Order: sequence, then C-alpha cells, then structure tokens
Amino acid sequence: MKNVTHWIGGRPWDGAAQRQGDIYDPAAGQVTGRVDFASAAVVDDAVAAAGKAFGSWRAASLTKRTQILFAFRELVRAHTGELAELISSEHGKVAGDAAGEVARGLEVAEFACGIGHLLKGGFSENVSTGVDAYSIRQPLGVVAGITPFNFPAMVPMWMFPIAIACGNTFVLKPSEKDPSASLLLARLWAEAGLPEGVFNVVQGDKEAVGALLAHPEVRAVSFVGSTPVARYVYQTATGAGKRVQALGGAKNHMVVLPDADLDLAADAAVSAGFGSAGERCMAVSVLVAVEPVADDLVARIAGRVKALRVGPGSDTQAEMGPLVSAAHRDKVASYLDAGVAGGATLAVDGRAHAVTGGSEEGFWLGPSVLDHVTPQMSCYTDEIFGPVLSVVRVRSYHDAVALVSENPYGNGTAIFTSDGGAARRFVNEAECGMIGVNVPIPVPMAYYSFGGWKASLFGDTHAYGTEGVHFYTRGKAVTSRWLDPSHGGVSLGFPQNQ
Ligand code: NAD
Repeated sequence: MKNVTHWIGGRPWDGAAQRQGDIYDPAAGQVTGRVDFASAAVVDDAVAAAGKAFGSWRAASLTKRTQILFAFRELVRAHTGELAELISSEHGKVAGDAAGEVARGLEVAEFACGIGHLLKGGFSENVSTGVDAYSIRQPLGVVAGITPFNFPAMVPMWMFPIAIACGNTFVLKPSEKDPSASLLLARLWAEAGLPEGVFNVVQGDKEAVGALLAHPEVRAVSFVGSTPVARYVYQTATGAGKRVQALGGAKNHMVVLPDADLDLAADAAVSAGFGSAGERCMAVSVLVAVEPVADDLVARIAGRVKALRVGPGSDTQAEMGPLVSAAHRDKVASYLDAGVAGGATLAVDGRAHAVTGGSEEGFWLGPSVLDHVTPQMSCYTDEIFGPVLSVVRVRSYHDAVALVSENPYGNGTAIFTSDGGAARRFVNEAECGMIGVNVPIPVPMAYYSFGGWKASLFGDTHAYGTEGVHFYTRGKAVTSRWLDPSHGGVSLGFPQNQ
C-alpha cells in the first residue's frame, strides 16, 4: 500500500503523521493507500519553508523564473501519461479525461511562461517638469491554494504556475481523496530547478485548511470547491486580512432553442453531462429544452447515452468511469428516486447500465436522464455532481433565460441555436460568468480568466489569466524626480567653456 505525504522545503516530509486518511481506487472499490493529514504544526513548517524561500525567489530575475517555468512545462508534458494514470487510479476518470485535464492545466503553465510580458508596468514621462510616474506589480509573499478532488492536477495548475511566476512562494492543500498528483508535480518542479521551499504541499483535511486560513504569514488564499466551504473560506480568510478568491459549486444549464442542430446539441449534452462522470464544475446538469424540441432531443440523447461504454480508466475504450466514492455514488443515485417521487420521469436509468471490465466493488453509477424536471425538485435545486442530466421543458426563450439567471449559481451556461441574434441576446442577458454558444463547456483559455457569478464565486477576482496575475501581485505607483545633471550632478563629459 502506498503512503502519500507532504512536500516541504524541496523534499518529502519524513515525520510520523498523527492522522491519516484512506485513498481508494474507485474502479476497484478498494483502499490502495494512506495519505498523511497535516496538523497545524506541519502547516507551520510548510509556511515557514515558503517564507524562508520568498526573499531570494522574489529577487530571482524574470529570465531565471521563466527558464524554470519552461523546464517545468516540458517535464509535465513528458510525464502526462504518468500523471493521467495517477489521476485515473484515485479519481476514477477515464484515461482521455485525465490526459485532458493535464493538457488544460499545462495551458496555464504556458501562459505563465510569458510572465516577463505580463508583469510589465506603465510609464509616463514628464508628468510634471522633470517628474516621471510609473507602476510596478510585486509579489505578495506566501500564498496558499486549496483544491477539490475533481481536477487534482488542473485546478492546482490554475493557481501555482502564475503565483510562482509572479515571485510568490506557494503552499498547496490538495484534496485528500486524490493526493498523489500533487506530489508528482512537486517532484517535477524540483527537477525543473525550482529552489526548495518555493512550492510546498500539505496533505489533509479541514484541520490543515483551518491552519492555513489562520496563519498570519499566508497573504492570499485561492480556493476551489463546493459553495458552503468556499463561503466559509472566504469569510474566514478575509476576516484574517487575507486576499481571497473562492470558487464554489455550480448548476450549469444548456439551453436548446427550436432552431438548433439537434444532433450537435445531443452530442454536446452527452459529452458535457457525462464526461468525467459529471464530476466537473462546468458539467451540464440541466438541459433546458425550448418546446417543441424536447421529445426529439431527449430521444436523441437517450440513444447516445445508452451506447456509452462505462468502465475503468485502465480500459482505453471506456468513456465514463466510476464516481469518486461509495457515499457520493449513493447520494447521486438518491436524486433519481427523489426526482421520480417528485413527478419527473426516468428517460434513462443509469443504475441499469452495464459496466464493462470493472470490479463489482467499484463505485459505479451509469449515466441517467431525468425528464420533466421542474425547478422545485431537489434534482434541480441541488448541485448533484454526478452523471445525471435533468431536462426542464420550457415554452419560450424568455422562460429559459429567466431560469438560468434566477438560479443561485452562476458558473457556466450554454445556448444551442442557429440564430446569431438569439445567441448574442443570450450572451448579453444570462447571469453567469462563462457562456458557450454552441459550445457546451465554455472553460476559458488560459489567457482569459475562469470564474462564475453569484454563489459560484466569492471574491471579485477570477482564476488564472491576467486576473490571476493581478490576484498574486500588489500594484505600486511611483512618482520620481531626478534633477538634470546641469544642476550640479555628474559631469556628462561635454567640453566645458572656460
Ligand atoms: P469540497 O468543498 O468538499 O473540498 C474542497 C477542498 O476543501 C478540499 O481540499 C477539502 O479537503 C477542503 N474541505 C472540505 N471540507 C472542508 C471543511 N469543512 N472545512 C475546510 N476545508 C474543507 O469540494 P470537493 O467535493 O472536493 O469538490 C467538488 C466541488 O468543487 C463541487 O461543488 C464543484 O462544483 C466544485 N468545483 C468548483 C470549481 C469552480 O471552478 N467553480 C472547479 C472544480 C470544482
């Protein structure tokens, strides 16, 4: 059985943990290892290592930092297969999804390779006679990242490449459910030449989180996870005077207008609803069918869903893996009964879906489609975070956009239509942070920024992109007067008229 521990000051921690947690292989339903849980004292050690490294790291030239980032990027790319296997073995997602998450994380590392350009300030000559003004951005110090189970490589990589490129030092607290990817990333940083203490990992649960939020030397916290924890992290850490961006849960609606290409919409609903077993914060969980398309659309989706191959990540043909834990699987399944009890119909019941090549003990639940869902049902109001697509039938575009905008979450949404004017109107009106037009999962590229509205984000800064650079730096404006040498300064070497 493997033992996963912390990474502090450039090496694995060699202490004896007082508390540990189990690591599962969700496809086998078996415990495959143990992960150490950091106490407050271990968090102190990690923050101290990061604090010690900060002075020389912030002084490292932009050229030096860029060289290390490029080396890290190359190493992660070369280890994509190994990272993807680790992710699959602890999260359960299939190989393609795991490799995809590494690729999306790498895009942020690539963006951070341009840090020299990103940190350029402004300069105004002669704002007054002989006076210049300019702006610079400086790192904050030790910053922390707290991340969820569903993207154990990508979400941490939304944070630390930019934080580190900006000259900060970093303490990551990954999810205790799939902790191994963080350690491989730490080893790759070391191999890339990152000085010890610049990147640290503390494993654990809410005790480690509480210690990070209370630590006076932690200047900023980036959090991604469920809404109740995001709200708690935001309130606690801002109360302690820290800068915070806390990204929360989601309930993403995909609106299909009657003029949409229904095959395109059905393909999109299936990949966005059931990819990564629906355990994606940008997964489509509500399909809003604007009548009269619902019957036709649901039939096309049901046909595709029934053909999905469900199996372990080790099967390269598998399209959907198990859920992350038995408890989560059971909770997700309970929404099917609750939906039916509330009047919804099960167009596809994932509990009957065949599993190809998986162990019987695995945390399996096939893809389900609940039709005739209404906004009062728990399958609509709750973030299910699993392979359940709820279909809400509405009469008009207006009903659809109102549903999206009135939902308490505001992460992503998408519209499927062949009418550019309707799409443009939706982009303008929908109250969400990320919008797709005939694209079901509109995750922004690394040079834009990722973030939702309403209960999907606490704080005002989105993740990565230029907003990430802003979050991990402080602005300084300088006003500077230098007298001309003719006022008695250094000789400029011109001939003197005696
Ligand atoms: P979670 O909120 O349970 O855990 C997130 C992190 O917080 C983990 O590191 C965990 O150890 C820690 N944590 C959990 N409970 C805590 C507590 N009581 N006190 C302090 N720390 C605690 O989330 P999860 O189940 O790991 O991930 C799934 C959730 O993350 C979903 O709600 C999903 O929508 C959300 N998510 C959001 C985004 C986004 O960009 N908005 C991205 C990915 C995931």
